[in-house]
Amino acid sequence: MLFDLDRQIFYVFGAMFWPQDFVFLAAILVLSALGLFLWTALAGRLWCGYACPQTVYTQIMIWIERFTLGDHKQRQRLAAAPTSLHKALRLGLTHGVMIGFSLLTGFTLVAYFTPAPQLLTELLHNDLGPWQEFWLLFYAGFTYLLAGFLREKVCTHMCPYARFQGAMFDRNTLIISYDAKRGEPRGPQHKQADGQSKAGHCIDCGICVQVCPTGIDIRQGLQYTCIGCAACIDACDNVMDKIGAPRGLIRYTSEATLEQQLPEPGFGQRLRQPRVLFYLLLVGSVLALSLMSLLNRPTFKADIMRDRASLVRETNDGWLENSYSIRLTNATEAPQRLTLDVEGLPGIRLADGPRVVTLPPTQTITLGVRAQVEPQHADKGAHDIHFVVRSLTHDGVIRREQSSFIGE
Ligand code: SF4
Ligand code: SF4
Repeated sequence: MLFDLDRQIFYVFGAMFWPQDFVFLAAILVLSALGLFLWTALAGRLWCGYACPQTVYTQIMIWIERFTLGDHKQRQRLAAAPTSLHKALRLGLTHGVMIGFSLLTGFTLVAYFTPAPQLLTELLHNDLGPWQEFWLLFYAGFTYLLAGFLREKVCTHMCPYARFQGAMFDRNTLIISYDAKRGEPRGPQHKQADGQSKAGHCIDCGICVQVCPTGIDIRQGLQYTCIGCAACIDACDNVMDKIGAPRGLIRYTSEATLEQQLPEPGFGQRLRQPRVLFYLLLVGSVLALSLMSLLNRPTFKADIMRDRASLVRETNDGWLENSYSIRLTNATEAPQRLTLDVEGLPGIRLADGPRVVTLPPTQTITLGVRAQVEPQHADKGAHDIHFVVRSLTHDGVIRREQSSFIGE
């Protein structure tokens, strides 16, 4: 991936795109939005818990903390310890590694716009441009701030997806839920005379609340601050193992399944929901249209501009003549030979006959051409004509660009 802003070429997995191809960017954005709707209808908030960059980067920062400071309890002990050189060194090391990782992220993001080997060389020779320096530090700073400090606060206070996901949920959406029918009444498992406990399976240990990064109690039902990380599922499963109860008191399930105590529907059943089918149809249609236009992209582009300074003039042999600028762009990474001609009025011709042009790879050239017509075929006013550009390199690739010829 390289977005070469200087040359206005965008390389995506080997394919080249030009500013004129921004319709594909729109298609990607539409597909991403539809994909998110589809994914949410199918699997709830899995995106937040497993794929969102904020979650992933936060997890990486937590790994760094775990590596340099130890597990949760060791970190708590260090935080409570009085200020000392040892504490300062360990915290300094942690934040040093986090800042190093953030700088690497900043480098990676700037390398989308400057080839990575070139960027590395410039960095090692302290030769970065001011914009490269700015964006590297900008991305690094925000990575450190968002993933190193704010963490889940970004999900609960800043992320718009958390706010509107409720509109995409229904009773069949897969969510992380507490099975109240099984868990209540919560409390210690005191055995009765018959050897059975009257309490539900929730022993009210509170571990699911302690491990929750956003500090919520999933037993109170679905809350928009739940980022779907599933930490409460793992914690509660451990508790269930210890008390000898079946796992899954907190689990991935849907409201409808919980209420009716039905078996979990399989993936195929979830796919057959009308809402999921509707999103699938939309995603499939946009994808098919985008792929079709992607495969039919021309190998070159031609833009015609009429020379507005001189409308029409008469040549020595009495023909009428209009001037044009033609911008030809080679949209491939190999040279191309093109022919250029004009049609649309009887006897219309280019001043020097059909032109043959060689376009270097990825280059744009601008040609000045003159179209000529005998006066009896072009009376006063504008007449539609077409410039015809044929590729000699790629058989059958032809573009007809409309323009106008002013007669008198
Ligand atoms: S971890 Fe499980 S048993 Fe403990 S309070 Fe949470 S739901 Fe109840
Ligand atoms: S409730 Fe569970 S899944 Fe939701 S954020 Fe808290 S720990 Fe993660």
